[in-house]
Amino acid sequence: MVSRIPVKVEITTENKCGFCTNSKCCTYITQKINGPRSRDDFDHLLWQLSHENVQAYKDEDGWFLLVNNACKHVQKDGRCGIYFTRPQVCREHSNDYCEYDAPAEDSFDLFFDGYESLLKYCRKRFKNWGK
Ligand code: SF4
Ligand code: SF4
Repeated sequence: MVSRIPVKVEITTENKCGFCTNSKCCTYITQKINGPRSRDDFDHLLWQLSHENVQAYKDEDGWFLLVNNACKHVQKDGRCGIYFTRPQVCREHSNDYCEYDAPAEDSFDLFFDGYESLLKYCRKRFKNWGK
């Protein structure tokens, strides 16, 4: 009789991406921005987050815009369609501890998933916001 006991495969940095079916790291871009300080800065950020799939966060490296649009080259099976000519930023991306292990949001100090959450923050941070 053939044994049906599943073999437990150890996930390593060498094989991890092969198990990652949604390739989360290929589904967004980030862009560093100057940290907003004034009302005008936050007003500008509110405009940016009024657009679909645009979010913002702050972590130990500063403030970033997060644009949640998948790369055109990610294939249905999660593989890169231009693997051998992929941009440098993709080559340098480490999978040591990535979104396969934990959501990126876990390391954010601040996270605004859209216009409403940023507006709430502005109202708290600035007295008489919008008046
Ligand atoms: S780097 Fe991480 S998130 Fe990206 S494909 Fe590999 S395992 Fe998935
Ligand atoms: S070029 Fe390839 S590795 Fe880079 S984000 Fe697109 S699918 Fe992912």
